[in-house]
Amino acid sequence: MSTLPMEVLHMFGDTIMKVVPITIVLAVVFTVLTHFWACNPGKPWWRKSEIVTDICYWFFVPLITRVVRVGLLVLGAAVVFNIHGADDLIAFYDNGHGPLAQLPLWVQAIIFLVVSDFLLYWFHRMYHGGEFWKYHAIHHSSEEVEWISAARFHPVNLFLGTVAVDVVLLMAGISPNIMLWVGPFTTFHSAFVHANLTGPSGRSNMSSPRRSSIAGITPRWSRAAIPISPARSRSGTSCSAPSGCRKVSCRTITASMASRCRRRSAGNWPIRSGN
Ligand SMILES: [Zn+2]
Repeated sequence: MSTLPMEVLHMFGDTIMKVVPITIVLAVVFTVLTHFWACNPGKPWWRKSEIVTDICYWFFVPLITRVVRVGLLVLGAAVVFNIHGADDLIAFYDNGHGPLAQLPLWVQAIIFLVVSDFLLYWFHRMYHGGEFWKYHAIHHSSEEVEWISAARFHPVNLFLGTVAVDVVLLMAGISPNIMLWVGPFTTFHSAFVHANLTGPSGRSNMSSPRRSSIAGITPRWSRAAIPISPARSRSGTSCSAPSGCRKVSCRTITASMASRCRRRSAGNWPIRSGN
């Protein structure tokens, strides 16, 4: 077997070895949290509908995004900076480059989070537009949203989204060493905003980002509009109210249940986190 397939296989193995312990930690954390603060109590996350689909996405997406990210970084260095060869590429990316890499790592991490959040917010708005909705609808297809639903993405949505933003920022000079902190934070944040949790004051852990985000900066909320009525969702309609919480005591459910239901399309989903 040639070197490249072996390296890709090694990369897959390395990624899985990182994803498994993170998944176990998240599973324990959200099992405990939803035991006490479930928005829709009575059904643990592992008994949610389409759990196998979510698990497949959960483990497959990190593999494919890592390979594509590395490929684009190599391509970008060659095309933009005329850098070729493994040693030169490692030297170029290892600790970042240019003025951004001179900043303390924690400053680079903040820049990365703010800029990526801003860009992903506008990507997300784009995906809710008519032409791009077909690449994003899968992310909103869960009828029971849980932390494990966070990785459901169409490949186009992934590549023209988080992967593109990561590549642009790393090519701009940000050190990949920030991922030691940023990676766990964004993974937990993404799982958290999809989790079946009630928020402060009894509201569901979800809200329209138009209300909860300033210029698209974190936090972005993702559970805003899962279909409230299983019967209606099966028929292809969904409620337009900014809540997917089925908890009877939840303040938002009354408005949700009373709201008009209409056909599910790009336009009647509130904009929210795409990751
Ligand atoms: Zn969306």
